[in-house]
Amino acid sequence: LLQLFIPLNALGFVYREIRQALVNVERLFGLLGDKPTIEDASDASELDVNGGEVRFENIHFRYHKDREILKGVSFSIPVGKKVAVVGASGAGKSTLARLLFRFFDVDQGRITIDGQDIRTVTQHSLRSAMGVVPQDTVLFNDTLYKNLAYGRPDATEEEVKQAARLAHLDRFIHTLPEGYETRVGERGLKLSGGEKQRVAIARVLLKNPPILILDEATSSLDSVSEAAILEALNEVSRKRTTLVIAHRLSTIRDADTILVMDDGRIVESGHHNDLLARGGPYARLWNQQNRSAEDSGT
Ligand code: ADP
Ligand code: MG
Repeated sequence: LLQLFIPLNALGFVYREIRQALVNVERLFGLLGDKPTIEDASDASELDVNGGEVRFENIHFRYHKDREILKGVSFSIPVGKKVAVVGASGAGKSTLARLLFRFFDVDQGRITIDGQDIRTVTQHSLRSAMGVVPQDTVLFNDTLYKNLAYGRPDATEEEVKQAARLAHLDRFIHTLPEGYETRVGERGLKLSGGEKQRVAIARVLLKNPPILILDEATSSLDSVSEAAILEALNEVSRKRTTLVIAHRLSTIRDADTILVMDDGRIVESGHHNDLLARGGPYARLWNQQNRSAEDSGT
C-alpha cells in the first residue's frame, strides 16, 4: 500500500504544479475572452530570429464580437529599439502585448517578427524569443532560487545569482535567514510588489531574449524602489527590441518612439520633446501627471 501511495502522491504534486503554471500564464495576461485557444499551424516552422524587428500592420482586434478593441493599429520596433505605449486605462495597451505574445490571434492585419507572420511559427519558438516583465508577477510555491531559475532551468548557480544581483535583489536575499532557499509564493514568504517585479527582471536577464515586453507598474512603488527598478529595467532593455507599456510618463522619456493610444487607435507618435512641443494629447497627459504629482507632494 505504501508503495502505491508514494507515486500517486508524487503525481498529485506534479499535477498541481502544472495546473499552477497554467493558471499563472492566464493571470499574467489577464482574463480570457471568448476566443478559441491558439494552436500551431500544421506546417508551423520555427521562428528564425535575426535581431528581432517587430511590426504591427493594420491590426484590428476584438475579444468579443460586439466590441472592437483595436481599430487599425500600425507601428514597428526596429531591431534593438524601444517603443513606449502610453494612454488612458482601457485604451488597448496591454492588448498589444497579449497579441505579440500570441495569446490571441488578430482579426485583421498581421504581426511579424523579422518578416515572419507570428501565426506561421510555433508558439514555443515565438515565446522563447520573448521575455515579459508583467504588471503583476506571479511566484510559484517554491524556493526563491527555483523561482529565479524559472527563466532558464538549465542556468548554473552562478548565473542565477548574477541575475539576482543585476536585478538588485541580492541585498534583500541576504537579509533572509534561509537566503535563496526561502520558500515564497502563496504558502511561503510574501514578497512586496517591487520585490516580485525584481524576480521577474532576474528571470528575463537569465532568459536573455532578443525581444522584451515590459508592462510597468512602478506607480505604486516609492520613488527609491522605482528608481532602482527602472535602472534594472534599462539595463535589461539596452540593445534589445523593447515594447514598454508605461503608466508614468517620466519613465519613458528616453524611448526611441512614444505611441499615444486612445480608444484602440494610435493618435500621436514621436519623441518626448517633439510630442511635448506639439501640445496635443501627449502634452495634456504629461501636464496632468505633473500636476497630480505636485498635488500629492511627490
Ligand atoms: P489598457 O492596458 O490600455 O488599460 P487593455 O488592453 O487591457 O487596456 O484593455 C482594452 C479594453 O479591452 C478594455 O476595455 C478592457 O476592458 C477590454 N479587455 C481586456 N481584456 C479583455 C478580455 N480578456 N476579455 C474582454 N475584454 C477585455
Ligand atoms: Mg494594461
